[in-house]
Amino acid sequence: MDSRMLESYACGRWHRATDEGRAVVSPVDGVEVARVSSTGLDAAAMARYARETGGPALAALTFHERAAALKAVGLTLMAGKAEFYAESARTGATERDSAVDVDGGFGTLLSYASKAKRELSNDVIHLDGPVEQLGKKGTFVARHVHTSRRGVAVQINAYNFPVWGFLEKLAPAFIAGVPTIVKPATQTAYLTELVFRRIIESGLLPEGSVQLLCGDPAPLLDALGGQDSVAFTGSAHTAAKLRAHPVLVANSVHFTAEADSLNASVLGADVTPDAPEFELYIKQLTTEMTVKAGQKCTAIRRALVPESMVDAVIDAARARLDRVVVGAPGAEGVTMGPVVSLAQRTDVLAAVDKLRGAADLVVGDPDHVEVVGGDPATGAYLPPMLLRSTDPEAPEVHEIEAFGPVATVIGYRDTAHAVELIARGGGSLVASLVTADPQLAREVLLGVAPYHGRLLVLNAEDARESTGHGSPLPVLVHGGPGRAGGGEELGGIRGVLHHMQRTAIQGTPEVLAATTGQWVTGAPRAEGDEHPFRKSLAELRIGDTIVGGPRTVTLADIGHFAEFTGDTFYAHTDPEAAAANPLFGGIVAHGYLVVSLAAGLFVDPAPGPVLANFGVDSLRFLTPVRADDALTVTLTAKQITPRSGADYGEVRWDAVVTNQDGAPVATYDVLTLVAKTRDGGAE
Ligand code: NDP
Repeated sequence: MDSRMLESYACGRWHRATDEGRAVVSPVDGVEVARVSSTGLDAAAMARYARETGGPALAALTFHERAAALKAVGLTLMAGKAEFYAESARTGATERDSAVDVDGGFGTLLSYASKAKRELSNDVIHLDGPVEQLGKKGTFVARHVHTSRRGVAVQINAYNFPVWGFLEKLAPAFIAGVPTIVKPATQTAYLTELVFRRIIESGLLPEGSVQLLCGDPAPLLDALGGQDSVAFTGSAHTAAKLRAHPVLVANSVHFTAEADSLNASVLGADVTPDAPEFELYIKQLTTEMTVKAGQKCTAIRRALVPESMVDAVIDAARARLDRVVVGAPGAEGVTMGPVVSLAQRTDVLAAVDKLRGAADLVVGDPDHVEVVGGDPATGAYLPPMLLRSTDPEAPEVHEIEAFGPVATVIGYRDTAHAVELIARGGGSLVASLVTADPQLAREVLLGVAPYHGRLLVLNAEDARESTGHGSPLPVLVHGGPGRAGGGEELGGIRGVLHHMQRTAIQGTPEVLAATTGQWVTGAPRAEGDEHPFRKSLAELRIGDTIVGGPRTVTLADIGHFAEFTGDTFYAHTDPEAAAANPLFGGIVAHGYLVVSLAAGLFVDPAPGPVLANFGVDSLRFLTPVRADDALTVTLTAKQITPRSGADYGEVRWDAVVTNQDGAPVATYDVLTLVAKTRDGGAE
């Protein structure tokens, strides 16, 4: 295969550097794959283009429309994944490694698309938390809202996940309505560029919403301002440099880093060699050492096991690691490829040398690697290497990261000691605990959670479904404090909100309703001649209200409801016992009776645009209802969310049930599906 000059996608066109660029060779055979350079590229213009073309194009789309675009891209890429696997193999990835990177990346797009559709409204503004009442009379209220930043999300990626790495950052930013500039790590940029090219060719994303910079990001960083962000993944060294970048500091550019960390996996003190958890521990450890040849920010570097189990763990791990076949991806039987480059191989060996100051190398000999289908001289091959610490307190094993197929087994005295040793990592992305004892899990969790972004507790019950120690998931946070970079990515909608500005809006209820698109208590209500259930989504407005009642509740109603439903709890049926109840002091109506009677007061029974009631939110019973109380319900359209691609949408109604004294007895939101038009078709 020929080497190709990678291009950047800038300001709506592909840009080819004006010089020869830097050669990138494959770690499989040392053959040149690509050349990378950004000479001649106007990076400041890229930032402006993102803000002036990409930002407005995204702002014109709702969260749901952005989600639909992202889903279409995910499906398109998935359909053509064979060519990405072929390119991925040149980075040293086996099929298993590529599945994590390629399928993992596309899956992240689909996951974000689906989450955004389910958890965000079909709008461009996201409400955060309840309305805060700031004055006694209710004329001055406040609420937090999230809106899209008007800048560009710059991502600087590590070499190890050329596909997942850029998509896991792109998806949340895109949903948030913020354009992205992707800067891939030079060593594997050819795979990123190929996937990116297919995205652009698909025409599915608005112009300016994504750009690609292959080469030097320095001029881009110089062009960033206070609405922009930088999300970095890579070495702690580069993270520290960027954190102190004068332009980023001067302009308060939002900066997050995800750096290398010495993740730990603990074998619980309850696990014996014949327990199923022992096998799970060993399997997980050896898998984490060998997937992506150990070049995963989440891989296990420190295997913490009870002192008495060190020998058993090493023996069992050796038996598995001896079966690993190192070689060229795709060659017969190969289960682990090379690391990404000869330089990386040198770095790993240097780190192993340093580790050997405090540990013995007990599995793997870097001077004697059997390589299938590749040449050990030109390829960046390493064997899996397991070390045994000679001093668990020695700083080396907690501080030196060998970013390759390397882990160290460390013996601990008791759980408190294990917790203390884990914390010596100074903050990690993930830790795992293998135990069948939930109480032990709590003890470890309380000890180590402050140092981690994610914790996996593995045992025989969840093992089959477990996604594993090393897999960040789109719905869970990915990141960690301290040494791990201090950043946070993903985590479902949390990851979207990282790209949005949270603002507290203060004003009257009417202003709040108008600005946020959600009716709030105290805002004007409209009680028209027509029942709001007769109105289609196109006709309904927030604030449309129906008042039903009063309806007197009788003792017979309460008795009937108790018999009919079988809910004969004494507070509804036994006058003496109910009288002794300190909260009620006598028979009270069931809360569900109140809600059912309220429904009877507000529904319009004839067929119409309201199709279904799909639940209630935030139901609270505030005042006990007794026989002879008279109930009135006020139902107000609170939020209207048309569903894209459907003939109906969601309407959230504010429901307040009051008694004859005007005291609220129940408050809740009723959730309904309502047709977009009276004849049931789309608008
Ligand atoms: P680097 O930190 O050197 O590079 C990461 C990214 O930052 C690359 O895109 C790189 O671009 C870019 N970069 C490097 N220097 C600068 C700079 N001064 N300004 C702006 N961008 C810059 O990490 P490597 O990929 O070289 O890996 C080195 C070590 O980092 C590994 O051995 C491992 O210990 C750790 N690592 C951690 C990862 C994690 O996921 N947490 C992932 C990968 C590595 P370019 O490639 O063009 O130089």
